[in-house]
Amino acid sequence: MALSPSLFTQESEKNNANCMETKQSQTVAMASEDPLQNLCLASQEVLHKAQQSGRSRCLQCGGSRMFYCYTCYVPVENVPTEQIPVVQLPLKIDIIKHPNETDGKSTAVHAKLLAPNSVSIYTYPCIPEYEGKDHEVVLVFPGPQSVSIKDISFHLQKRIEGKGRGKTDDLDMPPIKLKRAKVEEGCDSNESMCKGPALKRVVFIDSTWNQTNQIASDERLRELLQVELKTRKTCFWRHQKGKPDTFLSTIEAIYYFLVDYHRDMLKERYKGQYDNLLFFYSFMYRLIKNAKGSAEKTKPKPSLTH
Ligand SMILES: [Zn+2]
Repeated sequence: MALSPSLFTQESEKNNANCMETKQSQTVAMASEDPLQNLCLASQEVLHKAQQSGRSRCLQCGGSRMFYCYTCYVPVENVPTEQIPVVQLPLKIDIIKHPNETDGKSTAVHAKLLAPNSVSIYTYPCIPEYEGKDHEVVLVFPGPQSVSIKDISFHLQKRIEGKGRGKTDDLDMPPIKLKRAKVEEGCDSNESMCKGPALKRVVFIDSTWNQTNQIASDERLRELLQVELKTRKTCFWRHQKGKPDTFLSTIEAIYYFLVDYHRDMLKERYKGQYDNLLFFYSFMYRLIKNAKGSAEKTKPKPSLTH
């Protein structure tokens, strides 16, 4: 089930060189057999070596792990932190994990490892306070009221305006009023200031489908604007039974959200800026795909994250 190192390096070099061109045809690539083949990724040689040498020690808790420690959110001893790419994100990401979700199976930790300055992970029911921030925070959840990414700005703006009209004695008023004035002033005098969307933070729920419903209806979250990622197909290797293939793993959801945010809200051309969020995911996806393919007859248990 090991990949040939030379083949893998060659492949990723080729991918990097082709990055710019292939990005444009990503929708086509998504439908192909390996949807992760055209990513602009840092060298995964370090993962390849770690995979060959087997589990290693977590320098924080001492636990024996493959690639990274899913409880401490750090890479293991034989995966030096400096060889892991750092991804700069345009938004803060909060991930709320269900306490029953098995840590080793969650891809949420990938986000924390690769974008440590922008990502926070919480275990339900411990979640941050979003009261008074529902004009700048959204929840990714496919509910009946959910909107698409390109409509986020419109809906957040409506909330800002709604707040400006009502409740003058509200303690939240001064900062919101100030913010609103600033946005409007910017639109009149300087067009470029209009481009800055109100959105600051995105909340993702990391759990099975039933648990996700429970968390999303929590009173601390239910006032947030719900956003749905409608068109992406998952390549999650632990595809959940009975779920449509648009049910994404957490890291896929974060990645696709950011790509669409970049295109539809920042209105900028996407050049692979966030592709390294799939640094671990794409590697593990290929390992598991290969393991499944090469040992179909013997029915193995390709459990790489434990
Ligand atoms: Zn640890």
